[in-house]
Amino acid sequence: MLEEMDSRAPWRFARPRQAARFIGRALTLHCPNCGGGPVLRDWFHLRVRCGNCGVRLERGEHDYFSGSILLNYSIGTLVFAIVLAIMIIVNWPVVPWTALEIVLPALILLFPIVFFPFSKLLWLSADLIMRPVTPEELEWHRSTDAQFSTERHAPTESVKRRG
Ligand SMILES: [Zn+2]
Repeated sequence: MLEEMDSRAPWRFARPRQAARFIGRALTLHCPNCGGGPVLRDWFHLRVRCGNCGVRLERGEHDYFSGSILLNYSIGTLVFAIVLAIMIIVNWPVVPWTALEIVLPALILLFPIVFFPFSKLLWLSADLIMRPVTPEELEWHRSTDAQFSTERHAPTESVKRRG
């Protein structure tokens, strides 16, 4: 069981350029912190740590990704509204209601699945924008996993046994 992190550290926002970088990395399914990876175990699960920098993707907090579900649904609703508005405006006055009756429910069902890993990494990005990882915190993330260093530097049997 991983220990939880004390997240009462003061907020210090990332610069706009850095913030854009965090978001861009999330949108390409890379680690928002370093731009490397891997970060996905499968489409629905993140790895515990970034395979490159070792940052814990939940930042050591319980229920860290609850907000990402809200983010997923909020963006899904926004996409739904935009698609609906565009279809009505473009086709007015002959709106293809029958086609919309098929397309929109399909969108509602598929969007949260397709967007799932993006919503988690965007959530982490938003957190990093408000509280960038300090070198001390990164050290803490890495220190809780004996395997981390061996994962990155071609594990040998002797290293594994020592761990
Ligand atoms: Zn990383």
